[in-house]
Amino acid sequence: MKLFRVITAVTLTCAFTLGAYAEEGLRILYLSKSSGFIHSVVNPDDSGTSLTDRVLTELAESMGALINTTKDASLINAENLENYDVVIFYTSGNLTEEGNDGYPAMSETGVDELLAWIDNGGGFIGFHSATDTFRVGAEGEPNDFIRMIGGEFLTHGAQFEGILQVTSPEHPTMANFQDNWAIWDEWYLYTHLNEDDMHVLVLLEPGEEREKQEMYDIPAYPIIWCSAMGEGRILHNGMGHREDVWENPDFQQTVVDAINWAAGEGPTHAAPNYHDVVPEADAESAE
Ligand SMILES: [Zn+2]
Repeated sequence: MKLFRVITAVTLTCAFTLGAYAEEGLRILYLSKSSGFIHSVVNPDDSGTSLTDRVLTELAESMGALINTTKDASLINAENLENYDVVIFYTSGNLTEEGNDGYPAMSETGVDELLAWIDNGGGFIGFHSATDTFRVGAEGEPNDFIRMIGGEFLTHGAQFEGILQVTSPEHPTMANFQDNWAIWDEWYLYTHLNEDDMHVLVLLEPGEEREKQEMYDIPAYPIIWCSAMGEGRILHNGMGHREDVWENPDFQQTVVDAINWAAGEGPTHAAPNYHDVVPEADAESAE
């Protein structure tokens, strides 16, 4: 763990010495601090890096972008965020506490500073357990982070092959996304979905899983969505629990497309559409 901290520090030093380069390409900050559950894909191996660190670094290089991968949540502050175009979270738990992985916590004002940075034109992407971050519970009142990302992790069942239905084919991030893509992953169910503000990009269609797991005996529901906040762009992709998802070239393409969109490429195309594209549970159960 100490070794990884040193590597992170060196990477950050490079960000400053390579300032000229950074000005030319996209600058990305990837935070994978796990104050709560530690996913295997963010857990560093003997190399000191995690699978998601390596995949995102490779993708960033292919884009000519500069990426800093870190587990130090104190780097989410107004001054440091100025160095970046896009911030990616694969986090968990209350990041203002060191929690399970022991890496430095975010300051009490970190979320406010992150939101102000987005509002001012920053791009935010949250994968999978990003919605398992700063949870308030189904009975709780959603906080600023939950409202920003657009939903909160509620629970999940056994992994299965879900079917991904594109609801916004014109969106820039959907240009390479195959409609009705069937892929194994752990599929989160959500609470506090920001139905009035989100632009739903992809629904998770449980298909035959409805007969196997009762919690998935529900209509298709949002699993990838986006929104605009001030000058900034926000995208959540609930995928990415499994190693083979991150190793999947089609998934990697969605990551690249999400980064480019979050960085401001192409139209925002984030008008709320939840009520137009998401099947209503009540209507279906009444049939
Ligand atoms: Zn998971």
